[in-house]
Amino acid sequence: MIVKTIALLGHKDHGKSTLIGSMLMQTGAATQVRINEAKAYSKRLHKTFEPAFILDSFAEERTGEMTIDTTRAQIVARDLAFAFIDVPGHEELIKNMISGASYGEMALLLVSAKNDEGIRDQTKRHLFISRMLGIDKLVVAVNKMDVAGYDEKKFEEIKNGLSHFIEKIGFEKEAVHFVPISAYNGENLVKKSSRMKWYKGKPLINVLYDNAKKEGRKQMGALRIITQGTIPSEKEELVVGKIVNGQVKVGEKVSILPIGINAIVKEITVKGRKVRKAVVGENVALKMDKNLGTQLRGTVISSIEHKPLLQDTLKAKIFVTGKMTNAMMIKFNGIDIKCKKVEILNGIDTVTGEKTGDKKARLLEAVDAKVQLVRKIPIEDYNITRELGRFVLYSGKEFAGIGVITAS
Ligand code: GDP
Repeated sequence: MIVKTIALLGHKDHGKSTLIGSMLMQTGAATQVRINEAKAYSKRLHKTFEPAFILDSFAEERTGEMTIDTTRAQIVARDLAFAFIDVPGHEELIKNMISGASYGEMALLLVSAKNDEGIRDQTKRHLFISRMLGIDKLVVAVNKMDVAGYDEKKFEEIKNGLSHFIEKIGFEKEAVHFVPISAYNGENLVKKSSRMKWYKGKPLINVLYDNAKKEGRKQMGALRIITQGTIPSEKEELVVGKIVNGQVKVGEKVSILPIGINAIVKEITVKGRKVRKAVVGENVALKMDKNLGTQLRGTVISSIEHKPLLQDTLKAKIFVTGKMTNAMMIKFNGIDIKCKKVEILNGIDTVTGEKTGDKKARLLEAVDAKVQLVRKIPIEDYNITRELGRFVLYSGKEFAGIGVITAS
């Protein structure tokens, strides 16, 4: 079964655990034993039943295999399984990004419709960073509709309050969906709710499914392979790497950047098997018509016709997470490169999406910046090839920010 990861966003107490608990129950993934345990536990705490407690029994079972990316119990929808990644704060986002964890392409944001909850600054900041990290499909579940009397007006109020901001930070309108739900009562999760007849869309799980099934935009791009290095051998050197865009075929002439050598692909191996062609997402070992040497880590194998830009100046949007100093470095596809200069051009308020006119890097805000490096690297706008369009900025042992390259 194909597992799709979904970044689960939302302010504390807006109902993330309850939603997952209820979905586990409604899809039949939670056994009666688990549900009874959660009921008994709720009772012990003198609470009415909390579906969120179903997750705790999953968590106990999984402690041995937990990572920073703790993936909660999976929810199955037809031929897909959804693994929700909890991203409570920016530290986790950055840690995960550095460790190479992928957020997939989709996020589910929960916003409570309860009067004193609603849209928070942190919610917007989260959305802003998710977009920066390349998430381009978004489902917003407006939760606790039961408390709002299942009123369409309340749903529209939250939808309108967020729509403008969501578009401003770069989500395409067609890739964003709003669903009114009650996680606690299980309304509009797996079945269409009879209490919100005014809602003409599908229940949450179907919206997630349809969104996940939409074709990724990367399949059609020009070939980009990020090389991890070479496996030397007496007769034939193998170049290993991951295809992050396009496809590669035996016989194809490619260019290796920034070195600037051209070579012909003689053999392609994927998972130990020789193939004629490999596509985006696959790890490949390539035999070329010539030896390329040992300094290949972090280089890019590109199609001859459409190469990435080779630049030592990057125009980027940086989300500031630490102190900017005079000794900045960037980490870019596993290699470290020194910066000559990092120039802040303009501040961006991550809560409004507006430019601030500020020339200073403020913590937890974003800036438009110009980063000058000591040497040229192969880059691309991150909307075209994410991996060639983002970097981590640091100084000494401290991380200072995450950057996405915005244009040539
Ligand atoms: P999290 O911090 O986002 O994981 O939030 P929880 O799932 O722990 O929920 C916080 C509180 O909100 C709990 O007391 C839940 O019972 C309650 N809650 C969650 N969803 C709903 C809902 O749809 N309706 C109502 N009335 N309460 C809810």
